[in-house]
Amino acid sequence: MSSDLVIDVRNVSKRFGGLTAVNNCSLSVRRGSITGLIGPNGAGKSTLFNMVAGNIVPDGGSVIFDGVDVTGFKPHELFRAGMLRTFQIAHEFSNMTALENLMVVPGDQPGEYLGNAWFRPGLSKSRETEVRKKALDVIDFLKLGHVRNELAGNLSGGQKKLLELGRTMMVDAKVVLLDEVAAGVNKTLLNDLAANIERMNRELSYTFFVIEHDMDLIARLCDPVIVMAQGEKIAEGPMAEIRANPAIVEAYFGT
Ligand code: ADP
Ligand code: MG
Repeated sequence: MSSDLVIDVRNVSKRFGGLTAVNNCSLSVRRGSITGLIGPNGAGKSTLFNMVAGNIVPDGGSVIFDGVDVTGFKPHELFRAGMLRTFQIAHEFSNMTALENLMVVPGDQPGEYLGNAWFRPGLSKSRETEVRKKALDVIDFLKLGHVRNELAGNLSGGQKKLLELGRTMMVDAKVVLLDEVAAGVNKTLLNDLAANIERMNRELSYTFFVIEHDMDLIARLCDPVIVMAQGEKIAEGPMAEIRANPAIVEAYFGT
């Protein structure tokens, strides 16, 4: 059955020793949406993300990605299938320019996420030209043209975040997972980042699944918003509805 759900998480659970981090949780991400995931610290959000992205295998339940049961798939397999997660610019890439950083792609081997460059020997000239053109398009889209030849290590925090976002645009993504991408980014640059996520969604039809603590950012970007508490989904809806529900506010801020 072809579905408008990109991610469909069914009854997943994860225990760490005696602690149940995610408890029989079901939720989904609709194609074309920017779906938010919020909840108090320890609610199980990151554990759930890790199960979706293949970093943690669930104890029970299943993860369906674009109609395929991918429970137990490795992160690099999911990545190749179009489930992308942003990564901090690793140390070894800080001496490459912004443009070159976009021309680096994930490797095919487990643990080789960003270890394999387009620039490797044997890459055909025409392929390199094609990748360079794509990288320049992404640079343009993100309005990073003025820093494209700067070393990534010299970029501001916000510019690095944009570059991380840009990397997800270098491959065909069915969904982009963002785990607290706004952490440590100042308000002005946060605005840039949000605007670019919105443009990727509206103009390029990217689907996003976003964990975020910044409620203003969630309110601006996400619909629907899913609320988790104590390993379970307790609500889902537009942010205005979530904020207006006393039971949710209680679960979120209570105790
Ligand atoms: P959130 O991202 O919503 O803050 P997490 O998914 O990180 O929540 O954590 C959920 C619960 O699982 C917390 O109680 C946390 O301490 C616990 N937890 C998460 N990862 C591990 C782990 N690798 N080992 C043991 N406990 C963990
Ligand atoms: Mg977390």
